Amino acid sequence: MTNLPGAPFFHYHAGELHAEDVPLRALAEAHGTPLFVYSQAALQAALDAYLAGFAGRNVAVHYAMKANSNLSILRFFAERGCGFDIVSGGELARVLAAGGDAAKVVFSGVGKTRAEMRFALEQGIACFNVESEAELEVLNSVAAELGLVAPVSLRVNPDVDPQTHPYISTGLKNNKFGIAHDRALGVFKHAATLPAIAIKGIDCHIGSQITTEAPYLDALDRLLDLVEAVEAEGIAIGHIDCGGGLGIQYRDEQPPQAGALWQKLFARADARGFGQRQFLIEPGRSLVGNAGACVTEVLYLKPGEDKHFCIVDAAMNDLPRPAMYEAYHTIAPVCKASAPLPPDAPLYDVVGPVCESGDWLGRDRALQVAQGDLLAVFSAGAYSMSMASNYNTRPRAAEVLVHGSTCHIIRRRETLEDLLAAETMKA
Ligand SMILES: *Cc1c(COP(=O)(O)O)cnc(C)c1O
Repeated sequence: MTNLPGAPFFHYHAGELHAEDVPLRALAEAHGTPLFVYSQAALQAALDAYLAGFAGRNVAVHYAMKANSNLSILRFFAERGCGFDIVSGGELARVLAAGGDAAKVVFSGVGKTRAEMRFALEQGIACFNVESEAELEVLNSVAAELGLVAPVSLRVNPDVDPQTHPYISTGLKNNKFGIAHDRALGVFKHAATLPAIAIKGIDCHIGSQITTEAPYLDALDRLLDLVEAVEAEGIAIGHIDCGGGLGIQYRDEQPPQAGALWQKLFARADARGFGQRQFLIEPGRSLVGNAGACVTEVLYLKPGEDKHFCIVDAAMNDLPRPAMYEAYHTIAPVCKASAPLPPDAPLYDVVGPVCESGDWLGRDRALQVAQGDLLAVFSAGAYSMSMASNYNTRPRAAEVLVHGSTCHIIRRRETLEDLLAAETMKA
């Protein structure tokens, strides 16, 4: 097998899986399961991987917080100078609650409401990443009503294929995101005439879990073509925002290193005379994905004629990616078996308790497991807890952040009271 996802921050020591210096078994005993465990050193390493490619450049990192919006995770990035890419007013409230700076927030998303626009304008965010002509008109009118001017970047759809899962590809013509490349120049010219709009930049985001360089280089070229065309009309483009989307290791993927990828992108930008411009990036998954694992307990083993099931206490409501995208997560025991896996060991489908056939976490996995064992689901730092739900009236899991040999509870386990609190009974 290739490296364990999350290595070296998640690693086996004397047969026991650790996050940094803390054994996961001890965490599960103290805090129960399912339990999300994050490694602070892994977060730092992921951020440093980007920064390694930025020496001598003008780049701002805006963490795409929908990947994992826990307040402690946000604070970690805010303290290190990052801004945020948000997709709702709720996410802006989280940034503020975490002590983040609204002036370092860019606001993406195809369906911003007037109330969200007002909130973001009043807080003084850095930029609205506008995704349609209709949105531009509404933003202009909302800003004018407030007597403010909205800072705007236009999200352009560069029509490049990121070669990833269709549900996480966003930069193709037929996706709902962004303004079509061949309309963009006209929209920039129109935006420049709107009194309550100030053009700040251009942006794109072509998809997620991208594991090759070519789509990034193509998208950058398409974006720079537009910058040239827009500036030829006398409209200045202050910043160039290349979005996020860099992939991580779930199984045996080998995505480009962030720093190396950016050195190539800057070489391309240099060749076209744009290397010293202000750049923004919006990475999500690649900053947090491999920094998390979910610990779950084996409730039952259920042998079958064709299929063996390993039923665990985490489910699609905790880890929605397999059900949503048929995504693969590596699953491994928290305590390694002493004997190697026999060649005739059964293959298990690892499934949760939720009443849906789509509730699976892994299929046909070679596992040496017994009832009561603990398993770790790797690469669970991104798009897991932030997508978790209460389906089947299941309280959401607790989250802990490990730093060296210390551990902080950064979200307590939900209670059944929490779940019922918003509801009332009709008399
Ligand atoms: C989701 C999103 C990102 C982050 O994508 P990752 O694949 O997690 O890096 C960045 N920008 C926008 C506009 C997004 O919607």
